[in-house]
Amino acid sequence: MANPVLPSSGVLSPLGLDAVRITPGFWGDRVALNREVTIAHCQEWMERTGWIGNFRGERPRRGREFSDSEIYKLLEAMAWADHPALPELAETVARAQEGDGYLNTRWSGSRYTDLEWGHELYCYGHLIQAGVARLRTHGEDPLTRTAVRAADHVCRRFMEGTQTDGHPVIEMALVELYRATGAERYLEMARRFVERRGLPALGEIHLGRAYFQDDVPVRQATAFRGHAVRALYLASGAVDVAVETGDEELLKAIEDQWERTVARRTHVTGGMGSRHADESFGDDYELPPDRAYSETCAGIASIMLSHRLLLATGDVRYADLAERTLHNVLATSPALDGRSFFYANPLAVRVPAPPPDGMVNHAAQGGLRSPWFDVSCCPSNIARTLASVAAYVATSDGDGVRIHQFTPGEISHGELRLRVETGYPWSGTVRVRVLDDGTGRISLRVPAWASSATLAHGGGTRPVGPGYAEAVGSWRAGDELVLELPMEARWTYPDRRIDAVRGCVAVERGPLVYCAESAGDEPPLAEVAVRPGSALAEHAEGEVVELETEAVLGAPAAGSWPYRSGPDGWDGDHGAEPGAALRLIPYHRWGNRGPATMRVWLPVAD
Ligand SMILES: [Zn+2]
Repeated sequence: MANPVLPSSGVLSPLGLDAVRITPGFWGDRVALNREVTIAHCQEWMERTGWIGNFRGERPRRGREFSDSEIYKLLEAMAWADHPALPELAETVARAQEGDGYLNTRWSGSRYTDLEWGHELYCYGHLIQAGVARLRTHGEDPLTRTAVRAADHVCRRFMEGTQTDGHPVIEMALVELYRATGAERYLEMARRFVERRGLPALGEIHLGRAYFQDDVPVRQATAFRGHAVRALYLASGAVDVAVETGDEELLKAIEDQWERTVARRTHVTGGMGSRHADESFGDDYELPPDRAYSETCAGIASIMLSHRLLLATGDVRYADLAERTLHNVLATSPALDGRSFFYANPLAVRVPAPPPDGMVNHAAQGGLRSPWFDVSCCPSNIARTLASVAAYVATSDGDGVRIHQFTPGEISHGELRLRVETGYPWSGTVRVRVLDDGTGRISLRVPAWASSATLAHGGGTRPVGPGYAEAVGSWRAGDELVLELPMEARWTYPDRRIDAVRGCVAVERGPLVYCAESAGDEPPLAEVAVRPGSALAEHAEGEVVELETEAVLGAPAAGSWPYRSGPDGWDGDHGAEPGAALRLIPYHRWGNRGPATMRVWLPVAD
């Protein structure tokens, strides 16, 4: 089964790349661009920066202490995409492995002397994930043997003792290797890494132990905290351990942490992470749009976690969050040409940023998309995720198929062979055609935002509410189910406890968050307000749907002090201009026209 996550139990079973074939459309186009452009782009940059040369022994060694992991994530992408460059790159990696399985181009000679910051086990985690991907799509080869030797080395070195790595990911990688090989030592090693955390297992650092989730044991935490990518990778590994060991307490702990984090620490885009200084979650309701960090990798990690929780519980809310994050974080990061990327995904940009210096964005904190970064975790993470995105589309439950994410394509399971036709996310019509005679339940996710959806089949049409709309029966080739989701654009209000966006509204349409972008000719966004409830007119730009609404423009009277004794209104004495038009574009498309300002949250004109 060609699948990144294959639990041995759970309410839902995943359908992998061999059961779900995505055809051209919103995701199919991105999958193809990734395979044809982004994977080669990443490899070129890893050669140019010397990160691949490190494996050939070229000196001086170049790149940060975790740069090996980028080659491994690229290998994982190549494995899912069945990319022809994989064998040679895998051989380069294999030749650098030491006799006992140790493999790291930075720390060879001073092994495990800095577990807080060294990232050795983190790098193995990505190597093992690449190995599992290769095992499930191809079978044993030099890459899978390298990964197994590294995993065996880790088990020998770390099974006893109290140590773990500053950056999680080894946990879920080892559980997946256990699932792929049946060797129980990998599961036991993963379980011990999860349980050691927070005892504590690592030394004190200047950012504090919460930064790498070593402040309290995993099952005692109440919300995700600290470095967002670390927190979400650890939670994913904890779910994997819980599912394979039948540890319901641990699973429940992660479900509760997800619940609280989604309710209080998640941006409207699905993005996670509020602080730039340590790439971390903020406190509850600390969600500033202009200082949002929302790292691309944190979005990917959130999708990985939601998928695991969906498989374990069958709860539709996990698929809902995955949809939001797929469309508004994963789809936002890469440029339309697949050759540059956002690292951070803020929800407002006040000053147009110049193109990155020398093609590399050193700060990784905003501005325009960059072809590469000093810390370049995001591009290769995008590459492996897009290469395996079919795994998030559908699952099975017994003889049934559940479709969670809507994309044109074909889905096969048991007797059911289905073709999905849709223009989603631009159109709300999802047509599922049965290709062969057969029996089984067909379920379609109705997103939480879809308050007036209908399902038509067998000659009738009925309203369906959020959750899963099901149809059971004996199917004949040619039968159809048609889900109609309401795609009217809608105004979205924030919880009033989110101080940074109080008095603002956002606009969504289907699964897409919209934003205003000003690239020079449009109104200055600092002076724009809107009237929620007013019309949101649609404009088709090719297949892309843009929106337009009435804006109120006007800057407050100039003064030497931006505070006053009464409320600051947008009308009347501030020279407001009612009737101006404000164009809104899908957030994932912003920044493709050059330097621009942008905002998702728009002040309400009072
Ligand atoms: Zn990243």
